[in-house]
Amino acid sequence: MRFAVHPLFHSFVLSALVATTAVAQSMPRAVAARGVQAAPITLRAARILDGSGHVLQNVDIVIENGRIARLTPSTGPLPPGAIDLRTRTVLPGLIDTHVHLGWYINDQGRLHATGDGDTPAVSSLNQAGNAWATLRAGFTTVQSVGEPENGPLRDAINRGVIPGPRVLTSLGSLNETTKGGSPDSLRASVRQFKSRGADLIKIFASKSIRDGGEATMTDEQLAAACSEAKSVGLRTLVHAHSAESVQRAARAGCTQVEHGVFADNATRALMVSRGTYFDPQCGLVFHNYLDNKPWFDGIGNYNAVGFASMEKALPLAESGIGLASRTANLKLVFGTDAVAGAHGRNAEELVCRVRKGGQSATDAIVSATSRAAESMALGNEIGRIAVGFAADIIATNGDPSVEIEATQRVSFVMRSGIVYRNDAAAQAHTRQTRK
Ligand SMILES: [Zn+2]
Repeated sequence: MRFAVHPLFHSFVLSALVATTAVAQSMPRAVAARGVQAAPITLRAARILDGSGHVLQNVDIVIENGRIARLTPSTGPLPPGAIDLRTRTVLPGLIDTHVHLGWYINDQGRLHATGDGDTPAVSSLNQAGNAWATLRAGFTTVQSVGEPENGPLRDAINRGVIPGPRVLTSLGSLNETTKGGSPDSLRASVRQFKSRGADLIKIFASKSIRDGGEATMTDEQLAAACSEAKSVGLRTLVHAHSAESVQRAARAGCTQVEHGVFADNATRALMVSRGTYFDPQCGLVFHNYLDNKPWFDGIGNYNAVGFASMEKALPLAESGIGLASRTANLKLVFGTDAVAGAHGRNAEELVCRVRKGGQSATDAIVSATSRAAESMALGNEIGRIAVGFAADIIATNGDPSVEIEATQRVSFVMRSGIVYRNDAAAQAHTRQTRK
C-alpha cells in the first residue's frame, strides 16, 4: 500500500542481534556465510509438490553445497543423517513478491514512525525480527519494496549474520514528483537506485486505495522510468489501483503491476498481451489494517475515510483474484504487501486467494513458487524442487494442494541447504533429553 507518512528508519546495529531459537543457535554461521555445508544432506519425502504444478512421490532429495544435487527414488532404510519428511508434504520455499520488512509495531502499540523515540538499534532488531518471522513461516525469498535500510538487512542475511529469507529490495521508490518528475530526472533517479545496489525499481503510479487509487503518473513518465530500468538491467514493480494507471504501466513495458483493485477485463487483457506480471492482493493486508486499527489510526491517511475505503475494496479484491486467475495466460504472481503486524502471516493471503478468490490451490502454490521466481528473473535458481536449484525447501503438516491451510502449518524450513526449522526433530530431541 502507499502510505502518506513514510516512517523513516535508522541505520543498522546488527551486531546486537541474538538469535533465540535452538535451531538458529546451532546454525553454522561461518558455513552459512559461505553458502557451503560440510556434508551432503538427504531429505526423504513421500510427497513433493515440485513448484511447477507436478507431484513427485517417494523421492530422496540430496543436497550438496546448498543446492539440489540429485533426486533419487527412495529405497532401503533411511540413510544415516537423513531427515525424514515422509509424514509431511515437501515443497519449494515460498516466495512473496511484495513485503515491507522495515514496518513494525513499536512498544507503544503503534506503527513505528520517525520521532516515536525508537533508537536505531530498536528499529534494526524489529526489522531482523520480521525477517526471521517470515523465514520461519516458510517464505525463503521476499521482495521488500521499502526503505534504504532493507539493503543492510539483505546483506547481513546473505553473509549469514542473521537468519532470514533471501531479500531483494528496491531501497526506496519513485513517483510523479521524484526529482521534479521530468522524464530525464526519473531516468536519473533509476540510475541512482542502480548505483546504490537496488535489485529492482519500485514506482508509485496511482494514489493509495485510501485516497481513491486514481492515476498519478503519465504515460511519458512511466515509459521513462520503466525503459531506463530495463536498460540498466532492473525490473520495475508498479503500484497502480485504477484501471487507467494499470494500463499505463502495462503500455510502458513495466515488469509487474501491484494491487490493481480496479482492473477490469480490458486491463487484464492488456496485461496478457504485454506480458505484464500481476500481483493483486486478496485480504491479508486489508484485514491486518482493519482488525488492528489502533496500531495505525490517525497516522497519515489511516483514518475513518481510509479504513472505509479498504472495507469497501475487500469484496472487490477477493473477486479480483478469481477474475485474474481465470484470465488465460495472465501471469498472476503471489505478493502479500505485508506491512507492520503481518510478517510471518504471509500464508493467510494464500488461504484467501483459494477460499475467497476461488484460485485453485495448485495454481496459488505455483504463483508463490516457480512463477514468482520467474517474475524476479530467478526462474532457474529458486521456486522448484529440481536438480541444480537452490535448496530452498519447506515441509507442511498436511498437503496444501488439497487443503491450502496447510501452508500455515510449516514445520520444516531449509534455505540454501541450511535447516532453520524442523519442529518434529526439535520435539524428538526434547523427548530424548527428558528421559
Ligand atoms: Zn506495498
